[in-house]
Amino acid sequence: MTKSQDSVFSEILGTIKSCLPLESEEFNLHEPLFCGREWEYVKECLDTGWVSSVGKYVDKFERMLEDYTGSRKAIAVVNGTAAMHVCLKLAGVEVGDEVMMPALTFIATANAVSYCGAVPHFIDSDFATMGLSPNKLDDRLREIARIESNQCVNRITGRRIKAVVPVHTFGHPVEIDSLIDICKKYSLTLIEDAAESLGSFYKNKHTGTFGLFGVLSFNGNKIVTTGGGGAILTNDEDLGKLAKHITTTAKLPHRWAFVHDRVAFNYRMPNINAAIGCAQIEQLPVFLGNKRNLAEKYKKAFDRNKYALFASEPSETRSNYWLNTIKLLEPYAKMRDHLLDFLHDHGVKARPPWQLMNMLQMYRDCPRDDLTNSELICASCVNIPSGAELAKNSQIAGE
Ligand SMILES: *Cc1c(COP(=O)(O)O)cnc(C)c1O
Repeated sequence: MTKSQDSVFSEILGTIKSCLPLESEEFNLHEPLFCGREWEYVKECLDTGWVSSVGKYVDKFERMLEDYTGSRKAIAVVNGTAAMHVCLKLAGVEVGDEVMMPALTFIATANAVSYCGAVPHFIDSDFATMGLSPNKLDDRLREIARIESNQCVNRITGRRIKAVVPVHTFGHPVEIDSLIDICKKYSLTLIEDAAESLGSFYKNKHTGTFGLFGVLSFNGNKIVTTGGGGAILTNDEDLGKLAKHITTTAKLPHRWAFVHDRVAFNYRMPNINAAIGCAQIEQLPVFLGNKRNLAEKYKKAFDRNKYALFASEPSETRSNYWLNTIKLLEPYAKMRDHLLDFLHDHGVKARPPWQLMNMLQMYRDCPRDDLTNSELICASCVNIPSGAELAKNSQIAGE
């Protein structure tokens, strides 16, 4: 016999709340935290007037990102979507190409492909990572792809398949080694959507540094924020220089003349945003420590909960636990939306994952493989409060 819905929901609520600070009544999914030198750095921008295209913080922020991630080059831009747009362009994605990506992602990944006039091709995810499934991708390519003079072509649509864009979902690293092998086998370019995974490592190497490019986001809900912002990571010096050039209107250096050598983008990050970013990166280790504490508490607590599983970091990875995730077990998954209402009624602002891309009207006619796992993850998972501030004054602080 299954338990009454309300007693199941109460137990899940109790498990979540046992990990959260006692003194609060409302818990948002992920809040930004400004407890470092943000004010000081922003004040300096305002006092000196360097708020926009010139100033020291953009350079400083880029060097800090390079140091932290180990990427040879980091280029700060206006947001993660713009970063992805430029990476796809520089990877040679052209009008009419196809780009393989998970159906389970934020819309930015698919939109950036559309900006290039290319077509997203949706592939299923694995349960362990919630990210792109190497096996499913390999099977799909074996079924539809043909190599023609070193290019991968979709035999069914006739379009060239140019790139693979995995996402490190909710901060958990995807199985990148296998994806690298598949990309080699089919002459595909790997671009990592690491928008959610600053501070996440796969076999001790930072996510976003495996592919030709990696993309970071510093939106307000991400682990580190600049208000809005993003970055391009690459280990290729020349591509890094080119990325900087075409995100800054392709202006040639000159004391007073406006000389631009190609059609380019105004995607550069303003100095004032980079100032916030510098202060945020200084606190990243603390954020990560607090988030890991919170995740460990959730994991312990959900080990004793019969209705839901906590999603732990995949093996051989270190996750930033950007968004903590629980997966409702059968037969409780079908109550997911009622559970979300119940949690909101009780101050826990939990959220479902995104709608799968193929469910959105702009993308429903795009090519796609079987998406069984993605559909299950999407229907049974709930993201629970995950901000770094939640572990600060909680029980674990005294442990
Ligand atoms: C946040 C995010 C992006 C980029 O978003 P912006 O708001 O443009 O910075 C891209 N992909 C994923 C998976 C994201 O979560």
